[in-house]
Amino acid sequence: MGESIQAVRGMNDLLPGEAGPWQALESAARETFAEYGYREIRLPLLERTELFKRSIGEYTDIVEKEMYTFTDRGGESLTLRPEATAGIVRACLSNGLLHNQRQKVWCAGPMFRYERPQKGRYRQFHQIDVEALGFEGPDVDAELILMSARLWKRLGLTGLTLHLNSLGTPESRAVYRARLVEYFRGHAEVLDEDSRRRLDGNPLRILDSKNPAMREIVAGAPLITDHLDDASARHFEGLRARLDDAGVGYTLNPRLVRGLDYYSRTVFEWITGDLGAQDAVCSGGRYDGLVAQLGGDPVPAIGWALGEERIVELMRLSPGTTAEATVDVYLALAGEAAERTGLRLAERLRDALPGLRVETNCGGGSFKSQLKRADRSGARLAVILGDDEVARGVATVKPLRENGEQRQVPLEGLAATIAAERARAPA
Ligand code: ATP
Ligand code: MG
Repeated sequence: MGESIQAVRGMNDLLPGEAGPWQALESAARETFAEYGYREIRLPLLERTELFKRSIGEYTDIVEKEMYTFTDRGGESLTLRPEATAGIVRACLSNGLLHNQRQKVWCAGPMFRYERPQKGRYRQFHQIDVEALGFEGPDVDAELILMSARLWKRLGLTGLTLHLNSLGTPESRAVYRARLVEYFRGHAEVLDEDSRRRLDGNPLRILDSKNPAMREIVAGAPLITDHLDDASARHFEGLRARLDDAGVGYTLNPRLVRGLDYYSRTVFEWITGDLGAQDAVCSGGRYDGLVAQLGGDPVPAIGWALGEERIVELMRLSPGTTAEATVDVYLALAGEAAERTGLRLAERLRDALPGLRVETNCGGGSFKSQLKRADRSGARLAVILGDDEVARGVATVKPLRENGEQRQVPLEGLAATIAAERARAPA
């Protein structure tokens, strides 16, 4: 026997019985997006490496050290997507979706980053992502944030805080950047290695440093919000007024710069106090320059992405969240005639009672062992069928969760009996 093969580090299996909160999150998101008129888009997991280098930015964690990049058999450099926005913009451009049109889209799926695996941080993780392309804002900025707030409400998640900032335009940022470089140069001796390297490449990223030793110097740095151009300042006020109108609270956080280069103006993050160090559950921002940067005509755009693993963890922590649905009825079958009749009977039940979850016993076994399986399945009812029952046109219905008489029911009346049981004590 060979040694068993392990999963890749930082990549998780989602096992049977664990999918409940994932399914609840994904369907709540799908319903919420539909309510705002956002449509689904599904894209390849692999893109040309160039796409991410040109969009995310050279001096970012992702491009510097986190991408899963390889050369395919044709000699082309490809990268497993580390985030969704670049691919969405690429798809909009290559399919002409921004010619005299605007788009409100969402997508969901796995992302890949070569990070140090720890709680809430994995190498394959999952995002749900929303983007609005072709909108100047700040109305759409507010809409996107309201949509995220509605999703939290739907999921019963309280205790998330919205952090909000504006990064201005590339021009206003250049002025700020010069001030920042001057400030950090004045404190060069306390900068860590990452920060020293970023000083020339992208000094704003120093503000995003996760190194506690950098906290003090970051706290004393000049604030970007003191350097906004007039139009960006008005845009930011407009967003804040709309959030105020809607009663969505927020914390102004002038040090929130976000880890990707393409953002401009609005940036935000939903933060939780319940997950330890990995506290950002949803992050987003405006990227007015990205479409042009990737070769299109300039189109303003904004989006956000939530981390499914982190949201699922919050759902597990909050009481009364969704367990995976169990079956309603377990069909125990013994004998050749019973097995063949049983398979057809299960189909008839599914026809008659849409949504009913019926598990058919497969692979035989004694009634005793089948009833054990029935019990483990979580079913409320067992339907028992042997060859002599088939001959008499009846089945035995046995309640498994509550005290109740087991009784014989004609096969034609079985659906009605199950429907009555369902109505009596809904799951
Ligand atoms: P962080 O600051 O935690 O590294 P980030 O700024 O890199 O997050 P984004 O690129 O904005 O994150 O991705 C959006 C969301 O995806 C984050 O808010 C987070 O919830 C989730 N996320 C990011 N990286 C990971 C990861 N490696 N594992 C699990 N979730 C992640
Ligand atoms: Mg990160």
